[in-house]
Amino acid sequence: MSAVKIKINDEEYNLIIEKKRSTKNMYLRIKDNLDIYVTCNIFCSDKEIMNFVKKNENGILKMIDKMKKKKEKEEYFYYLGKRYDLIYLNNKDINFGEEKVFVPTSFNIDNWYKKEALRIFQEELDKMYRKFIYHIPYPSLTIRKMKTRWGVCNVKTKRITLNLELIKKDKVYLDYVIVHELSHLLYANHSKDFWKCVENNFPDYKKIRKELKYDE
Ligand SMILES: [Zn+2]
Repeated sequence: MSAVKIKINDEEYNLIIEKKRSTKNMYLRIKDNLDIYVTCNIFCSDKEIMNFVKKNENGILKMIDKMKKKKEKEEYFYYLGKRYDLIYLNNKDINFGEEKVFVPTSFNIDNWYKKEALRIFQEELDKMYRKFIYHIPYPSLTIRKMKTRWGVCNVKTKRITLNLELIKKDKVYLDYVIVHELSHLLYANHSKDFWKCVENNFPDYKKIRKELKYDE
């Protein structure tokens, strides 16, 4: 595999050439990062490849355009209730702009979310626990992705599990789910007393619960 820089319509792209013994024809594709891949037979010359690219410039531009549009739709980054455009760059670290977030091409979003959630969820749990007006045992915290629930409370082990997805939302939702689960340490059910306990610790809970579409 080899790579060269090429220019199409004044824009520079990486052209990656993959030569394979088994490939008879030459063909093109565009990767997510807008690199152009040409696959051809091992006996193909550079000149043949460049002619092939030149001949297909219009097609390449169309494919790049399509890929850009697809990425625009998909590549949003949600963090604490704000939406950012996700831009991949050759930098080392994550950088937040006003409406954009710049990340390295090797960036693993879920790992980053997990790291942030470990810090923020624990901070919020401690904050809500301190403010809690009834005496309850201090719970341990687990964070994971869940499909159907924002939080779970295991009364026996005094363990609260929070959905990692909460990192994408405004902190007010996280705080509500924490209060909800803390209240389960007092009431294992969803009785009237349970909801009274939630309300006493989180007066605005009805609105937030509705917005979260959370009946648990
Ligand atoms: Zn519940």
